[in-house]
Amino acid sequence: MTVETKVTYCRICEPLCGLVATVEDGTVTRLRPDPDHPLSRGQACPKGIAFVEIQNDPDRVLHPLRRNDQGEFERVSWESALDDIVSRLRDIPRDSIGGYLGNPPAFSYSHATWFAAFMRALGTKHTYSAGSQDINSRFAASALLYGSVTQLPFPDLPRTDFLLVLGANPLVSHGSALTAPRIKDQLGAITKRGGRVVVVDPRRTETARAYEHLPVRPDSDAWLLLSMLHVIFADGLADEAAIREQTVGVDAVRRAAAQHPPEETEARTGVPADVVRRLARDFATAPRATAYGRTGSCLGRHATVVGALIDVLAIVTGNLDRPGGTLFSRGVIPVEELAERVGLATYASDRSRLGGFVDVLGSYPAVLMADEITTPGEGQLRALFVSAGNPVLSVPNGPRLAEALTQLDLMVSLDLYVNDTNRYADYILPATTWLEREDFPMGVASAAPTPFIQLTEAVVPPRGEARQEWAVYDEIATRIGVDPLGVGLLQKLAPVSTRLPVRATPRFLFDLLLRLGPHGDRFGLRRGGINARKLRDRPHGVVLDEHAATGLRKHAVRHRGHRVRLDAPALVEELARLGDRHDDDPDFPLRLIGLRELRSHNSWMHNSPTLMKGAGRKHQARINPVDAAVAGVVDGTVVRIRSRFGEIETLALVTDEVGPGTVAVPHGWGHEGGGWELANKSGGANSNRLASSALDDVERLGGMAHLNGIAVAIEAVEPAAL
Ligand code: SF4
Repeated sequence: MTVETKVTYCRICEPLCGLVATVEDGTVTRLRPDPDHPLSRGQACPKGIAFVEIQNDPDRVLHPLRRNDQGEFERVSWESALDDIVSRLRDIPRDSIGGYLGNPPAFSYSHATWFAAFMRALGTKHTYSAGSQDINSRFAASALLYGSVTQLPFPDLPRTDFLLVLGANPLVSHGSALTAPRIKDQLGAITKRGGRVVVVDPRRTETARAYEHLPVRPDSDAWLLLSMLHVIFADGLADEAAIREQTVGVDAVRRAAAQHPPEETEARTGVPADVVRRLARDFATAPRATAYGRTGSCLGRHATVVGALIDVLAIVTGNLDRPGGTLFSRGVIPVEELAERVGLATYASDRSRLGGFVDVLGSYPAVLMADEITTPGEGQLRALFVSAGNPVLSVPNGPRLAEALTQLDLMVSLDLYVNDTNRYADYILPATTWLEREDFPMGVASAAPTPFIQLTEAVVPPRGEARQEWAVYDEIATRIGVDPLGVGLLQKLAPVSTRLPVRATPRFLFDLLLRLGPHGDRFGLRRGGINARKLRDRPHGVVLDEHAATGLRKHAVRHRGHRVRLDAPALVEELARLGDRHDDDPDFPLRLIGLRELRSHNSWMHNSPTLMKGAGRKHQARINPVDAAVAGVVDGTVVRIRSRFGEIETLALVTDEVGPGTVAVPHGWGHEGGGWELANKSGGANSNRLASSALDDVERLGGMAHLNGIAVAIEAVEPAAL
């Protein structure tokens, strides 16, 4: 038997923890944390370690599958699958072909790039992604404030004195839209050096328990932030010099904040006015402060406004683009500039066929897909690629989307499993895991307090007949005559002197962009700069600098004069709408929020026995004892949760970790089919069935589904005596 160890890194979530794989006769048999990784230093979470079970899962799709006339999947050859797919695509107008990209491709430089380029080359509007259920509001906020949709401002954890966290739980998520390995240590260091970490959340999360918790009513962040700004302006705590130097349009924010004194927002937020005043003053007077929000703040009714206000708090207190504050993201590869140059970094450059939603990075709200498939007319969606995604489980109208998928002329999925969505596909093409492809952190690692890069080769060859996704898209594109990353596009990226291939490969593109990037060797023009060859000699990765750069505003802000724009009309209009919102509903008096679990990652890791084992490993709704008593719900029994749009049943966990009026339910559960046996047996319910799919309920600026703060009611299903 041949036994080897290979250094690589995890690509499930943002810390990208270093791992060492044991490979026996070509099979990965063990993953363990890499003690020599400069940043994660021997730490990885249970998901990274258990990934070996996904890698070797007997339920994985390892061969192309075609749905036969009996509606069952049968194994076919790649050649026959691609021949048929290509021939059917030729009969469909290109603007009727679309794609949905799940979350995992965000961690693959080749998959995400080729998918986006393929969609762009088709000239279709039908690009959808998990982003409209996750983070597009953050991108929309950046487009409005900075004129740069790809900008991902992040907290300078190692140097801050005050970290305000809204709707994020970094001790469990390990940092989202933020690459900070060993984040627990990084948060701990803030308080050890005398600083503060304040967690604003309706739930006493693991992070809130460890630091200062400020409980808040679900989906009320916008009012809390405006009240903080109100105090900062009214008390003369704003950094007027920084505002003058860095921004335009501050009066719009002043006016909006003036409308929302803490005494008036107290009823909405549940935060006493004196607490808001103290918090605002403490934030504004801290030597170095930053605010950070993630999914909890991204999925409410005013998600883009909240994303913008989180930054505004740092901006008006002089904490933007300076050590210890909120920093501008900048990749080792200048993804932002390149995406702009090739027309992929767009915001509001077009509108969706239905609903008139603006695009965010060329994509539209995924909740539209069902209607786009079923509504006739020019550009009707007729063929769909689903890449490592499970929208039937993750968008609000799952059952309706499932029904609509059956009406497509062609549906092709690239995935590891037969899941809740691609069980309706015509073809499922076997995709690679991250252990089966070379990679480097392209997009996700740009929001890193400690700039770092690691290049990894594939640890093992693809299992079965799995193929890398980029190669599949490239081949289909070539055969139908579109040019996703051909020479024309490369010419826009490369220096005149570069010898270009006819078609790009990920490796070629990576090396080219790396060398042109801020740390690159500029093809020999910059001494000591990096290139792919140098990185291969450093398999544990390279720390590029002690701290992320500051003073980047002139590079990062694309508005005129490189000034942050605080009065974008869309933002001002949305701020004005806040005053009109009255959503109390006596029939649905509680508010639903999501929560992140340590051993789950969205909808795709429920087939790992290690991650699913244990007596407490059940899908549970956290309900406050007061609300449980009113509804007759007893801990451990089944509770029915109803909204105006649907209902689910799951187990009740009666706990005061959520305040009265709040119900917290983990997302990604409730699998109802497909080939992943353990996931199907795991039970639980799909919390998104409680969400509205009405277009009026989709957030207008970022196209976000409203998944946090849904009005719900609860009732006991089993007699309380049970
Ligand atoms: S924290 Fe994220 S990157 Fe690190 S091991 Fe866990 S899943 Fe992987």
